Amino acid sequence: MSLLIDPSSIVEITPSAGVDAARHGWRAKCLQRLVRMGLPVPHSYAFSSDAVRAIAGGATLDSDQLATLFGPGGLVSVRPSAVDPAWGGPGTMLNVGINDERHAELVVTHGQDAADALYLGFVQSFAIHVARLDPDMFSDSEAGLQATLRAYQDETDDEFPQDPGRQLAEVLRSMARAWDGPTARLLRQAKGAPAQAPLGLVVQDMALAIGPGVTGSGTIQFIDQVTGLPRLTGRFREQEQGRSRGHGAATLYLTRDPRGLSLEEAAPEVFAELVRFGVAARERLREEMQIEFVVADGELSIIDATRVTRSSRASVRIAVALARDGIIPPQEAVMRVEPRAMSDLLHQQIDPRAPRDILARGINASPGAATGRIVFTAAAAQAAEARGERCVLARRETVPEDVRGMHASVAVLTVGGGMTSHAAVIARGIGLPCIVGASGIAIDTRARTLRAGGRIFHEGEEITIDGTSGEVLAGAAEMLEPALDDSFDQLLSWAGEFCRIGVRANADSPEDAQTALRFHAQGIGLCRTEHMFFDETRLPAMREMIFADTPEDRRLSLERLLPMQRSDFLALFGIMAGMPVTIRLFDPPLHEFLPHDREGMRELAESLDLPLSDVTRRVEELREFNPMLGMRGVRLGITVPEIYDMQARAIFEAAVEASRDGAQIVPEIMIPLVSARREVELVKARIETVAAKVRNEMRTDFTYRLGVMVETPRAALRAGDLAEQVSFLSFGTNDLTQMTYGLSRDDAGRFMSDYVGQGVYEDDPFHILDQDGVGELVAIGTERGRIANPDITISFCGEHGGNPESIAFCLRAGVSYVSCSPYRVPVARLAAAQESI
Ligand code: PEP
Ligand code: MG
Repeated sequence: MSLLIDPSSIVEITPSAGVDAARHGWRAKCLQRLVRMGLPVPHSYAFSSDAVRAIAGGATLDSDQLATLFGPGGLVSVRPSAVDPAWGGPGTMLNVGINDERHAELVVTHGQDAADALYLGFVQSFAIHVARLDPDMFSDSEAGLQATLRAYQDETDDEFPQDPGRQLAEVLRSMARAWDGPTARLLRQAKGAPAQAPLGLVVQDMALAIGPGVTGSGTIQFIDQVTGLPRLTGRFREQEQGRSRGHGAATLYLTRDPRGLSLEEAAPEVFAELVRFGVAARERLREEMQIEFVVADGELSIIDATRVTRSSRASVRIAVALARDGIIPPQEAVMRVEPRAMSDLLHQQIDPRAPRDILARGINASPGAATGRIVFTAAAAQAAEARGERCVLARRETVPEDVRGMHASVAVLTVGGGMTSHAAVIARGIGLPCIVGASGIAIDTRARTLRAGGRIFHEGEEITIDGTSGEVLAGAAEMLEPALDDSFDQLLSWAGEFCRIGVRANADSPEDAQTALRFHAQGIGLCRTEHMFFDETRLPAMREMIFADTPEDRRLSLERLLPMQRSDFLALFGIMAGMPVTIRLFDPPLHEFLPHDREGMRELAESLDLPLSDVTRRVEELREFNPMLGMRGVRLGITVPEIYDMQARAIFEAAVEASRDGAQIVPEIMIPLVSARREVELVKARIETVAAKVRNEMRTDFTYRLGVMVETPRAALRAGDLAEQVSFLSFGTNDLTQMTYGLSRDDAGRFMSDYVGQGVYEDDPFHILDQDGVGELVAIGTERGRIANPDITISFCGEHGGNPESIAFCLRAGVSYVSCSPYRVPVARLAAAQESI
């Protein structure tokens, strides 16, 4: 004897019934809201997830339950009702209960044709989804009813079930079991559902969409799901419902349209009622809904409503419009938008409806999409720009000399590299779509070809880079323009009201600073000063300084660099108008400023008026086996202290000048790559000396804040020593990750996907902060720093500062602010607000 289903686990959906989204699913709850609004919803019953589990285990309905469920119409639909609509569910089954007898009645009431179409549709669905017969045999909507019933009998050796109770029991069981199948489980887990996600089911009286008069089924929504702008869209299918198509089936427009018939003309009252219901549903359900309806001989039924699926830009516009209309509070609008969606608004995106010819995949290092002609060198990129052509710079890796070429390109593609490699960091900084680590691509710079998936592309051929998805596409793709509209600004302003953690930007140039402000950054948390020297006009002076043989020569070339730096800082202070600006002293190894090939060295020898051998010798002298762990950061500051002296002077002079016409600027100076207390003592003493000199020379007083980057494990462990001497500690989690793992940030891309694929690392630690390891160092550093100096400000300025998961960690760790690339600031602000609410 089989178990019976507990009657309390099935409820009729009435205004006062205990329908609960967690037990009965979102669809059941949504239908109850529609019922409460007084909309014409057919009788519906909600099966709880307990009932569905029992059904999957073999439990059945008793005859009373069956009689109640079928109601007077004798036909029902069964729909899935998961807790979250995104988790999907088995397909809806319509017209359960139809049999020879009911068919004969329908012939009388609805006509032969309608009756046949409704019966046929159900037999086909049942054959495919319940009896699991070959879909090819049961998919033809033109097939005859009798032939299909015979085919069913031939395939199953059994008559098509005539008992409505048996039909319903089998439909329910097959839907309950389909939910537990491996494919459904994997699909919903990919959308964030827990493995044991519950399923509810809804059994609803059928509103028949095939029959006499104006009859059909349709959907209506009031918003464009791509743009998020108001637009009434949908369709009305006359004489059609699911897979059943009656005689005269046709698709109508909803509103009057010169191209053809519309529901508005065919049934104006029904249309007006639908629009009224739509407006009411938006207010009561507090969401943009797509409404599913049936018109049966001019009578309207609302059978379902689902949240409109939407693009990123639409999600922002919809949330803001709902809040502006007073339907939801601003706080809820902030919570409703996925932070990552913000970055889609800042850039061109490939139209989600457009076809894609995918050539290769890599790491999605900087979002947005662009189409351009392939070039293989920075010089070719600049030449293309000069001709007014859009180009994509494709390199094995980029080096600092490629920066100008990157600026001249619309997108960047590298075969090697990872999330924090040179190309990735620069591209994010300037908002350029970028894919790195596209290891399936081979570049031949001599032949000027790019090979991918067995295809060869020559210089000048068009490709598209989708930096949001990490896909490289052949040819051009249809694009959506950025959507930096007033909804975007409004959402960011609301987010700002709720943030409990600050968001600054990593900005090295006036353009970066403007972008940062445009995106509501609250200051600059990291200005990488070395980027200021890669400019064509600066590089010669920098190289001259590197080639200086005597301290006097070095002093002279630094004197040339001083006014350039001063004007850089003055510009940043001016744009940021009193907001904090953190300037990091010079960080990279000097050899990065030197040419790497013979041609470059020859040019350099010429411009410095030196023999080529001197240039090659100097380049050779500066070569290091492991430059990332070599003469860089504070080590350079200690061994060639004149560079930091010059930078400190430029900062102070610019701060004094910028303070003349406004509020006092308090610059923040940051020392990179520290690992020992004495390093800070030495640099601090020299900076104090420079400050004293500038005060004296300019006859004015000023203050500044000195800080240290915590980028080495030792700095984190000895944060107490460091904190005693400075006002702030800023975790540089790019280097800290590199050094904690012993993993090169420039080379990790080569094996990262294997590592993540095989579960060695859960995620790319350069992308999402490794909370267990690097995070522990952050926690230790924060705690020790605070004990030694309770007033210390703790911040984050690695790329992780723009990553929502890492921001959540920062908030828990008590970090005051994060700083990230300007184009990541909107994502960070929204994530920070959501974590704070
Ligand atoms: C870091 O290491 O996290 C950092 C911000 O510095 P950079 O990326 O310039 O090395
Ligand atoms: Mg660093």
